[in-house]
Amino acid sequence: MPAELERALRRRRSEGLYRRRKVVEGAQGVEVTVSGRSLINFCSNDYLGLASHPRLVEAMQSAAARYGVGGGASHLVCGHMAPHHALEEELADFTGRDRALLFSTGYQANLGVIGALCGRGDWVAEDRLNHASLLDGARLAGARLKRYPHGDAGALAAWLRERERVRLVATDGVFSMDGDVAPVGALVSVVAGRHGWLYVDDAHGFGVLGRGGRGTLEQLGLGQEEVPVYMATLGKAAGVFGAFVAGPEALIETLIQQARTYLYTTALPPAVAEAARAGLRLLREESWRRERLRALIRHFRAGAQALGLPLMASRTPIQPLLIGDNHKALAASERLWQRGLWVTAIRPPTVPAGTARLRITLSAAHSRAHVDRLLEALAEVI
Ligand SMILES: *Cc1c(COP(=O)(O)O)cnc(C)c1O
Repeated sequence: MPAELERALRRRRSEGLYRRRKVVEGAQGVEVTVSGRSLINFCSNDYLGLASHPRLVEAMQSAAARYGVGGGASHLVCGHMAPHHALEEELADFTGRDRALLFSTGYQANLGVIGALCGRGDWVAEDRLNHASLLDGARLAGARLKRYPHGDAGALAAWLRERERVRLVATDGVFSMDGDVAPVGALVSVVAGRHGWLYVDDAHGFGVLGRGGRGTLEQLGLGQEEVPVYMATLGKAAGVFGAFVAGPEALIETLIQQARTYLYTTALPPAVAEAARAGLRLLREESWRRERLRALIRHFRAGAQALGLPLMASRTPIQPLLIGDNHKALAASERLWQRGLWVTAIRPPTVPAGTARLRITLSAAHSRAHVDRLLEALAEVI
């Protein structure tokens, strides 16, 4: 058995697919320390620079003093505490939906929603590039899974014409490895009540897109009527940890009764919920963070275009450069590292074979000088 695992690991290494962790010594931020070295960080999902913001830190510290550190039990036993409840009400208000339900992670939220809404043999249609947790959710529910071509509402419509009824059509709002936005408006017309529920996972849009930071649906002018199931995480732009699902009353009650990843897991530490409330408050009030981020995205894209870098069709803070070959992507990432810049090489199976890339993410906490340093280094490295 160990020999077999070692052979598989060696094969992984020879294919340029081996993954290694790096230990971050201080706090998260656009400048981080690894092995005593300072690096400019271009791979975090902390898009608004809130992960180590003093207001969030203070909220977590004072909540720990007041509420303790443990959730104690699951929400339906005795773990549902005042901070969780207040956060849910604020999320429902912010997203303009009937109710919101807190999950411990986005991964669990996606498994839980699909499992609660779909039974064995039900059809679920998903964008081919959806996050792993959405694909796993359909598999775990025993649903029949159709993966339609990326962003192609027309192909989905053609497939749906052959089907009686589909329970769920699920898509990322912003695709995590490509940075493009799903054509949710077109998906709404295609699904149009006939084919169950439209489900948007907005892990990378929430807090970032839309004037108010309400995410992909705000940017596209869509609400609960058109897209009943909305999910987003609190560990990315909101700066903390956790996730939520927001939608109609009956959906949320169904999840409370039936979502296994909600029922059979310990509630988040209440202090995490209080820190997330502080994150949500800043995300709502400080729209300058989004404006600054948009300006940095424009600056990066203009610079990269002038250098002829292999930009992808993204207007979001996820700005991948398509390299193709696994070893080349790794080598480029390594050369950037040597220049004090941290940009991860994303390889299969996270992305399709032959599309390895450098996944650059921008944050409102970056300066123009950070971005200029990145562009200079990219010009030498790619
Ligand atoms: C990060 C992410 C998740 C998982 O959320 P966690 O809270 O990190 O478990 C789900 N969906 C998408 C699209 C993501 O990017």
